[in-house]
Order: sequence, then structure tokens, then C-alpha cells
Amino acid sequence: MKLVDCTEKYCVIGAGASGLTVAKNLRDYQLPFDVIEREDEVGGNWYYGRQSGSMAHSTYFGTFKRFTEYTDFPMPQNYPDHPHHSQILAYLRSYAQAFDLYPTIVFNTSVKRVEPANSFWDVTLDTGEVRCYRGVIIANGHRQEPNIPAYSGHFTGLSLHSSEYRTPHILCNRRALIIGEGPTGRHIAMEAAQNAQRTIHSTRSEIYRVYGKPGRNHILFASDNEEYQVVKTASNVVRVFKKTLTGHVGLGEIVPKPDVLSLHGNRVLFIDGSEECVEVVVYATGFTISFPFIDKNHLNWNQNQPHLYLNIFHPLYDTLFVAGLITCKKGEWRLVDYQAQLIAKFISLQKRQPSRANFLRQLKAKEFLPVSHEQITRCPNLNSIKVEYSVYFSKLKRLIKQLDTDCSVCNGDAI
Ligand SMILES: Cc1cc2nc3c(=O)[nH]c(=O)nc-3n(C[C@H](O)[C@H](O)[C@H](O)COP(=O)(O)OP(=O)(O)OC[C@H]3O[C@@H](n4cnc5c(N)ncnc54)[C@H](O)[C@@H]3O)c2cc1C
Repeated sequence: MKLVDCTEKYCVIGAGASGLTVAKNLRDYQLPFDVIEREDEVGGNWYYGRQSGSMAHSTYFGTFKRFTEYTDFPMPQNYPDHPHHSQILAYLRSYAQAFDLYPTIVFNTSVKRVEPANSFWDVTLDTGEVRCYRGVIIANGHRQEPNIPAYSGHFTGLSLHSSEYRTPHILCNRRALIIGEGPTGRHIAMEAAQNAQRTIHSTRSEIYRVYGKPGRNHILFASDNEEYQVVKTASNVVRVFKKTLTGHVGLGEIVPKPDVLSLHGNRVLFIDGSEECVEVVVYATGFTISFPFIDKNHLNWNQNQPHLYLNIFHPLYDTLFVAGLITCKKGEWRLVDYQAQLIAKFISLQKRQPSRANFLRQLKAKEFLPVSHEQITRCPNLNSIKVEYSVYFSKLKRLIKQLDTDCSVCNGDAI
């Protein structure tokens, strides 16, 4: 076993959107680091067709580019508000180029193990090399491990997770079941409606609701606010309906169903007692948070996820961080950029002005309890990696600002 001394450096795991902005911000503070990336290029989820990539060929950015782009690197003017995934990948690559991050990235290399070693961290790579780093910033993405619900029985047809779905050809002329009502499930259901022989869309919530009777002034809603059409004439019905998920239902191109109860051969039984024969099942059922290379104890794991202050800071370790462990309806990267600024500032202050870093050290030890989750979501019922853009954004910005001032006078109440 080869042990490499990297005790002056930090290790960033992953060169997706999060790892890149972490690297850029560490660079801004002149902190030495390596990025370890298992793919042969940057991009993570947006690296179409690769193990890390989760995009379908027809995926567009769901959030507005202005809310999502990094703080100091606007997306090109000629990009639409919702760019195609290939434009997003090009943007991520141009970010890496603009800030000269490529030379810091070790490609085609996986992190297999991260363990504390005295006051450092041993990082074992799939090459067999073990590197001893000063600290680790985990940015491996929380949409890498597909979540497949455990239904009873056994399905004998073709099944795949949405992260493996690329084009609708896999559904062509088949009886398809799409499970999941998130944006990805809805997107695939729409494609299925135009390609499959029959499309069944199983959802848990009531996304399909129709008010009134079809015909004149018929009002069609989907409860997710995405679709709302007032149809005035019968001839308009087809044209308007065609564009929407619920429209496909109106045309009989999507058959809504509740949750699946069980699968037997090619038969699917739903909780309302109905049954369908299907040939392909697409699970658009999300992802499981997973850090397979580190013991859960080191991430203060509790139930289904780590409990970290602002989803970034371990209550006790001062050299271990997670970046990108959030979901946000309005867009994530800008927020992760602020996370990265905060991490870089904290690391830098620990070295140069430990008294200022103490302020955040005390705060993270005190406030990692679930109460901090309410502070960043306003809604205690949300799962705690969902954040509300403006609340989380203000909190990060305020902390960064407070670290800039002499925080020997600050206390947690000020945040
Ligand atoms: C279909 C879909 C649509 C989306 N649309 C939007 C949107 O519109 N707006 C938005 O803001 N977000 C969107 N997202 C969220 C998206 O995940 C984020 O935009 C962003 O890509 C997350 O970046 P990340 O770096 O945290 O994770 P990832 O993109 O997953 O990158 C993680 C990187 O870490 C690497 N890695 C993992 N494990 C290891 C290891 N052990 N060793 C070395 N390298 C490793 C992976 O190869 C990968 O490159 C979408 C996600 C999906 C799946």
C-alpha cells in the first residue's frame, strides 16, 4: 500500500456542479487541494450518458438560469431561461476552464474510503493509493444512488430507473408504467404518452384532478401548478391538451393510477384494486442519499441522512464538510457556491485567525440539531435537505459576512 503525504492539502470528492465550485472557492482563498473524480470529465449529473449522468436526451434545465448560475460566472446571454442539458454541461466545462480547475482534477479515479487518521484524513483511491489529507470536502452528489421502492412480487418485464432513461425508444409500442410524480416522472410520462402503446402513470399524490366536465369552458388543473388550461372550443381541446400532462389524460394517452401494491410477472396491481399488464416499468422514484466511502458516524448520521449544521458542517470535525447536500425548487448551484465560500473562509480563518473561526465552530457544535433545519426551510415537515432559496441564501450570506467581521463579539443569536 502506497501512503502519500497530502497533509497540506484538502481533498474534494467529485467534479460535478458542487465539487467545481468548491474547488474554485478554495482556489480563491489560496488553499491547496486535489479533486478526485471517477468519470473522465466534469459535469456529474449533467454528463449525458455516463454512470454519473441522469439526464434524458430531452431534459432541459427546470430552474431559471439566473437563479441557478454561479455567483460570478453568468450563463451565456444567448442561453434560454431553461437551457438544454448539453448547454448546461458546456457551461460547467467553461467554468472549470475559466478558473483553471482542470489541472487540479484527478480523473478516472474513485474514492473508496475516507477515514480519520489522527488529525488528518486517509483517503483510499481505487488505484490502491492511500492519501493523507488535511481535510475532505465531500461533493459526491445525492442523486447518484437510485431509490427503487420494494413492492411485493416479482416483475418479469423490463425495468429501469429514471437515471438510466435516455430516449423514449425504450417505450415505443410497449405498455409502459411510469412510477413517480416528480418533474422527472412527469417528463417521462409525457414522452411515453407520445410513444408507448399504453401509458400508465402511478402517483401517490393527487396530481391529476379535473374540475368540471369536458367541453366548453372546461377547466383543467394539475395540482402542481404546472398546467392550467381554459379550453374554449371543442376544436381547441386537442391542441391545448396536447401540451400538458393532464391533457394527455384527457385524450386517454395517459392512464392515471394510484400507488403500486405488487408486481407479478407482467401484471401490476394498484392499491385501488385495479390491475394492468405492462412490458416496461420506469421508476422515477428519486434517489437515496449515500456516502458509501465513509462511516455514517463520521457524518453524524441520524435516520436517513447526516445531521450537519446547514447541511454542511459536522458538529465536531473542523476539517470534514459536505457540499451540495440540498434540494431547492429555485435552483441549487448558486446556493452551493455560497456553501463553498463559507467552507473556504472557515478553513482559511482556522489557519490565519482561529479566534474568528471559533465563532462558527461554536455555532455548528451548538446548532446542528434539527432546529437548524427549520431555520433554513421555514417548514418543519419538509425533509431536511430541502431548503427554501431565500432563507438559506440569506443565512449563508450573513454567516460569510459575520466571519469577515471580528466575531469574538458575535454569538449564535445574531444569525
Ligand atoms: C433529471 C434531473 C434534473 C435536474 N434539474 C435541475 C435543475 O433544473 N436545476 C438545478 O439546480 N438542479 C437540477 N438537478 C439537480 C442536480 O443534481 C444538480 O444540478 C447538480 O448537478 C448536483 O451537482 P453535484 O456536484 O452535487 O452532484 P453530481 O452532479 O451528482 O456530481 C457528483 C460527482 O461526484 C462524482 N463521484 C461520486 N462518487 C465518487 C467517488 N466515490 N469518487 C470520485 N468521484 C465520485 C460523480 O462522478 C460526479 O461527477 C437535476 C437533477 C436531475 C437528476
